[in-house]
This record gives sequence, structure tokens and C-alpha cells, in this order.
Amino acid sequence: MPYTRAYLIEGVPFMQLNPRHLGLLSWFIFLMCATFSVQAANIDNLRISHDKQKTRLVFDFDSALPTYKSFSLNNPYRLVLDIDNTRFSGQPQWEQIKASILEDIRIGEQPNGKLRVVFDLEEPAKVHIFSLKPQQQYGHRLVIDIIAKKQQNVPKDPAQATMPTKQMNMGNILQGHRDVVVVIDPGHGGKDPGATGPKGTREKDVVLSIAKQLHDKLNQLPGVKAVLTRHTDNYLYLRQRLNIARRHKADLFVSIHADAFKHPRARGASVFALSQRGATSEAARWLAEKENYSELGGIDLSDKDQLLRSVLLDLSQTSTINASLHLGGFILQKMSDFAHLHKDKVEQAQFMVLKSPDIPSILVETGFISNPQEEKNLTNSKYQQRLASAIADGVHRYFLRYPPPGTRYAMRKKAAANG
Ligand SMILES: [Zn+2]
Repeated sequence: MPYTRAYLIEGVPFMQLNPRHLGLLSWFIFLMCATFSVQAANIDNLRISHDKQKTRLVFDFDSALPTYKSFSLNNPYRLVLDIDNTRFSGQPQWEQIKASILEDIRIGEQPNGKLRVVFDLEEPAKVHIFSLKPQQQYGHRLVIDIIAKKQQNVPKDPAQATMPTKQMNMGNILQGHRDVVVVIDPGHGGKDPGATGPKGTREKDVVLSIAKQLHDKLNQLPGVKAVLTRHTDNYLYLRQRLNIARRHKADLFVSIHADAFKHPRARGASVFALSQRGATSEAARWLAEKENYSELGGIDLSDKDQLLRSVLLDLSQTSTINASLHLGGFILQKMSDFAHLHKDKVEQAQFMVLKSPDIPSILVETGFISNPQEEKNLTNSKYQQRLASAIADGVHRYFLRYPPPGTRYAMRKKAAANG
């Protein structure tokens, strides 16, 4: 099932919800519209002000407030506000946003008439939302106060506090800013050799060698900590690979493979991200497994109802796929400098190892081991190094552009912006 890609401000793509849920939601909207009024409300102004303690956003409505709901998401920290039957014709004040705790505001009108506003926050915050009746020159207003919790550095989720990697990372924390964690996954291993080349080269050996070089290159970058799912020729189940990424609180997951095809002429490298279809089936599995609820970016989903849980999962997964596509694009671009590309854009498929709902994940097919020339390339140490460098460069560019909050990359980006 293809997912609908909508829009929007400043070129930030905003993914729509899964059509299944849209169906359910639009039923509610339909009932509401039938009961009340078909006339959509309009927000004609969004005012933003801030002081040291808080950032205040005021949405000015041209009529009485429709129903709305909000929820927050972690990793990165976001506040999501859904307002029923509303349009937005205002102009956010970007210069005010820049100076506040807000990193970005994305406003999306959805096909069912709902307005979704996503606030990207630099850090977790306390949020108060309330409405105001018309008064003096002002009409109906919806007010959001975002209060920074800077002093409280204690992790909210007790599970997070006891993660073993938390301690392992301590040595790398610079001025309270952590390293980004990249989990590298050499495909196959042990009893599973993967594909085999005409000269007998085994995929599991080639990808381990490339992965190790990538591991070294990434660890040389300041602010990056790389972790391998396997260091030797051992066998790992697919879910074990995902669990390793989760245990290390990975910011990115990169699986390394080599392709094979019955035609020896097939050639070129490619990069895959998860398809929405694969995401949907995995989301269903997650929803069915109660113990997974608390794992989603540290949010406790157990007290949310089924519909909201699925909306949260969808939001998380679509933004994860989106991030994976960005990352894959950077890597393809770097690889195109020296390697033949099988496809020049990131492909999407239902690979099991890419199914973490909250960790951007890609699978790099480094080339066709079944192609005699590429088999030769893939076993050549210089070529392996170039591949590793290209992937490391792509990862680095990705983090420069999209630094996870609280990391040294985020600190650098902020310093550059203020500089
Ligand atoms: Zn493979």
C-alpha cells in the first residue's frame, strides 16, 4: 500500500498517517461535521514570544475553537497538536522560532480537514495548553506554553537510566553532550555465508571486512561512537541485530551487504530504506506485543488507547523512514564518486533488519558479488576502504544536517548558527 506523501513548509517533507487510521479518524471527523458545522475554522495568526523560562505560542482563530488534542514524542522531542476542521493562513515568525526552545514548526493541513502542527523541541519540556475566549481586540485563542526543563537532567524513563550503554558512553560525554551512536551490521555470518561470487568469495567475509573499516573510520570522527553487531564470523538472527541496536540506543543503523543475481552482468551498489508496507506490518506486531510499548523512543504508550498508540507508532515510523531516506541519499551521492550505482535513488523494501520503528536504518548493497569485476573490487582492500569512507562521509553529513538533540553534533550546529 503506497503511503501518501504530503508537503510542506521550508521543504520539510511531512508524512501522512497510514490510510487505515485515516479511515478511522475521518469517521470521527465525519460524525463531528455532521453534528456541528461543515465550516472550517481558520487560524489567521500565530504569535510567538519567549523569555528565559518559557516560549508562548498563541494561535488566533477567526471563530470558536474546534476540538483539539496533543501529545508529545521523544527522540527527537516533539509536541504534536491536532486541531479538527481547521485551516492555517497565518505566517509563523521564523526569527522568533530561532531564538526559542523550538527548532522548527511544521504545519500540515490533512485531507480529512484536520490541521496537524508539529513542534520540534531542542529538549524535553513541560507544556501547558489552554484556550481563551474573545477579549478586547483578540478573538478566540489557543495558547501553548512550553517551559524548558533544563535543570532537570535526570532521564524520565527508568529503563533508560539503567541501560548499560549509558555508562559506556559516559567517558565520551563532552560538556553534557553525548556521542551519536551508529550500529554497523555486517550481513550474514557463521552458517549463513550469504551470496557467493564466481571465484568463491563469500558475502559474509567481504561485508565484515568493509564493516570493520567503516567502524574504524566512524570512530575517528569526533562525536561518533560506532558499534558492530558482529566482530567475527558468527551467526546472528535478524531480530538479534535489531536488539543490539536498541540496547546501544543507536541513532542510526547501517547494514552492509553484497548483492547477487543470476545474470553475471548485473552490477552496481544500492541503498535501501524500509518501505511503508513493511513498517505497517511491523507496527501491527509492536501493537500486539505489550512489552514493547514503553520502548518507543522512551514514551510510555501503555496508558494510551489503541487508536492513539497506532497514530504514535505511525508518526514515529514515518519520520524514521524519512530520516533513513535522507541518510541513504547522502551515502549514494558519496558512492557515486567512484562506484557504479545499480539505482541512483534510495530504494524501499521490507527488510526485517530495517524495521526498528524509531531508529533510522539503511541497508547498503555494496555491489554485485556475482559480477566478476565487482567481486574483484569487493575483495580489493583499497576499494573496500573507499566504500567505507563513502558510507562514513554520508553518515557524517547526515548528522551535520540532522543532529539528534543533546549530542555534540547538535552542539556544533547550534554554535555554527549562533556564530
Ligand atoms: Zn546479503
